[in-house]
Amino acid sequence: MSMYDMDLDRAIRKIKSLDAKTVGLQFPEGLKVQSTKIAKAIENETDTIVIISGDPCFGACDVSDWKMKGSVDLIVHYGHTPLPLKYEVPTLFIEAYSKIDIKKDLKKCLENLKNVSRIGLVTTTQHLHLLNETKDFLEDNGKEVILGSSPSTRKGQVLGCNFSSIKYLEVDAILFIGSGNFHPLGIKLFSNVPVIALDPYNSEIRSMDEFADRILRIRFARITKARSAKKWGVIVSSKEGQYRMMLAREIKKTIEDAEMEAYIILLDNVSPDALLPYLDLDAFVVSACPRIAIDDSQMYKKPLITPQELEIVLNKREWEHYQLDEILFHERYHS
Ligand code: SF4
Repeated sequence: MSMYDMDLDRAIRKIKSLDAKTVGLQFPEGLKVQSTKIAKAIENETDTIVIISGDPCFGACDVSDWKMKGSVDLIVHYGHTPLPLKYEVPTLFIEAYSKIDIKKDLKKCLENLKNVSRIGLVTTTQHLHLLNETKDFLEDNGKEVILGSSPSTRKGQVLGCNFSSIKYLEVDAILFIGSGNFHPLGIKLFSNVPVIALDPYNSEIRSMDEFADRILRIRFARITKARSAKKWGVIVSSKEGQYRMMLAREIKKTIEDAEMEAYIILLDNVSPDALLPYLDLDAFVVSACPRIAIDDSQMYKKPLITPQELEIVLNKREWEHYQLDEILFHERYHS
């Protein structure tokens, strides 16, 4: 049985209501294992042919609508909530909520929060349905709980590139519910308060301080190496939600104003292989997904840095004012 609620009934109702003859299915990597089972159920229950998107997908920034346009009547996109973007094909977003129970972990977590009275509570798409229950539990145990809002996300939700919901939160600590380091690292780097991550899949509760320090040391080393670069690549992704061409043009001009060379490179997927041919470039600034430079940096031989890190390289920003790059989808750079 799947650990996630794939909400097949909702998908089938939508397909029938649109009388869709061909349906595209898109899954993040962790849910792709479900794809043929879902496709089979849909084809059995409806008069529809299913096309599964086989490309990698890491967010709602990357709905395969422009690739599937003309081939499908509807896309069912699993695992993410919609962004304020214009999608080319009718798209149904199904969150794929985790079925995991966190009650026993919340009890354990109280120990980590014993000196905290005001808590910011955040999570990712898969656990949004647990926020009210978690808030009630913490309040019953004497805590004040704040769920932040943002125009790009649901209440209490963060994306790997968008932390608007925790901006301006006046709290003693932030409790993140979800797996892995990807989101809580972003929360830690984005906020100035202790971040406690509760991973409901392995019942682990940990502070993000040490991990964030380690990542910052790596960023410092990358920035230092990038200071000797003379020829730069400025990477733009053609993925709808990551496309920041205007920002890339501004970056190119900034580098040229500093009497160096800069070339804009437009890619769909940014990968070490895709950058291999640019032997003459010394470093890259990424205007695509802000997490490529931070989380994948060890995969690249040459420094990959964010636009804000370039400001540090060019002495336009102090290291003490280090800031993560964000995509503010509701006021995104576009041209
Ligand atoms: S831009 Fe990156 S972090 Fe943001 S939603 Fe897309 S994949 Fe996730």
